[in-house]
Amino acid sequence: MSQQQEQEYELDILDPATEQVIATVPGAVAQDVDTAVRRAAQAQQRWAALAPGERARLLRRFAVVVDEHREELAQSEVREAGHTVGNARWEAGNVRDLLDYAAGGVERLTGRQIPVPGGLDVTLLEPLGVVGVIAPWNFPMPIAAWGTAPALAAGNAVILKPAETTPLTALRLAELALVAGLPEHLFQVLPGRGDIAGEALVNHPGVAKIVFTGSTRVGRRIMALCADRMKRVTLELGGKSPNLVFADADIEAAAAAAPMSFLDNSGQDCCARTRILVQRSVHDRFLELLAPAIESVTVGDPADEKTDMGPLISKAQLERVRSYVDADAPGIRGKAPEGPGFWFPPTVLTGVDPHARVAAEEVFGPVAVVIPFDDEADAVRLANDTEYGLSGSIWTRDVGRALRVSQAVKAGNLSVNSHSSVRYWTPFGGFKQSGIGRELGPDALTAFTETKNVFISTEGPAQ
Ligand code: NAD
Repeated sequence: MSQQQEQEYELDILDPATEQVIATVPGAVAQDVDTAVRRAAQAQQRWAALAPGERARLLRRFAVVVDEHREELAQSEVREAGHTVGNARWEAGNVRDLLDYAAGGVERLTGRQIPVPGGLDVTLLEPLGVVGVIAPWNFPMPIAAWGTAPALAAGNAVILKPAETTPLTALRLAELALVAGLPEHLFQVLPGRGDIAGEALVNHPGVAKIVFTGSTRVGRRIMALCADRMKRVTLELGGKSPNLVFADADIEAAAAAAPMSFLDNSGQDCCARTRILVQRSVHDRFLELLAPAIESVTVGDPADEKTDMGPLISKAQLERVRSYVDADAPGIRGKAPEGPGFWFPPTVLTGVDPHARVAAEEVFGPVAVVIPFDDEADAVRLANDTEYGLSGSIWTRDVGRALRVSQAVKAGNLSVNSHSSVRYWTPFGGFKQSGIGRELGPDALTAFTETKNVFISTEGPAQ
């Protein structure tokens, strides 16, 4: 253990709309991770031994308690993450829904009976043990719950490491789990630095699986560390998603929907449709419609119900976003507050080379590019001309084209005539550098189990 890993430290939590410190939280070191893993391992044994109906009942109760504290959780998310209050309320409700949905799976987590000669063959789906969930700051509550809810439902214990900047809602969720009656130490939250607490969790031999959501850079490192121990891993990483607008689409509807497809959560969304690819024959008309839609986006105090877009999460993120946009680059710009807070205006750049940095890299801010294409083949080529493959949208009135392009675009989550990506009923995850594995959907619990095959001979002991 290095000296740095043993040293005590604290995390200052800022309100990104005011830059004021709203809380100070102790950061976990390797020793804290070790203690948490030992406790979790014991709690997991007791949890897995409960009747499935009892585990389901406790998770449903957890969902009810989250619902009872929805407004409190939402206000906390507004303050630590700068999310608009409307989004934050949805996010707290999403945690409730994820717990409810996972609870419904506990009593339906069935193995198979496979026809074989000479006996009976069954598969058992057994919990993995202790699962580590490492979450980013952009959607602190929902992403924590994507991993936690199905892992608990499948009989595992969970240790959640939230991002350095946004641990408060996660800590509150752990308290609410106890209020709901979940066993002590079954769900623990350890705020801390990624390179200290995060790596200690990834390296701990008592952790059976890591569920990581964050940058592709850190995801690669975590995958390499997990390989040493053959540790199970799910990676949900970055994106640079296309929004394909064909000339036969409802152009008004496509232009009206485009702004919030990359401005929601101030563009700090791995599924943000930041490459708007528009068929050349409607390119100018699309921009004419897009300009007023961008200019009318209300950027400001995230606690105000009328606000569409809040600040960026931090000064570092603001500087990163600024580095992608030249002040005199042609395009459309909205308005943002001046003064304290990490503000950046909605920005659409035109006349951009598809390989320019802003068109190729994940900006993770309210910035999109509009690039023209000639025909369907050109659209698919541009859509796939990226190292990422997370999401994408296709706007067309031609059903055949919608299906052809859906099949041709290499990404995990596509939507036609809408910008939907993450729904807890359906699988979510990335192709290419956007990740490995799937979360959510009907198979979410199975991803937190090992399959054991048992053959029972019907032919009696060998003579
Ligand atoms: P990040 O990779 O810097 O951090 C994510 C988490 O990993 C944090 O909790 C951090 O503390 C931890 N971490 C950092 N270094 C670590 C290490 N060496 N070992 C273990 N843990 C470590 O990412 P971020 O800046 O917090 O989040 C933004 C990124 O997340 C974007 O690239 C975005 O696209 C991605 N993201 C992806 C999805 C998805 O589902 N695909 C969802 C949300 C965000």
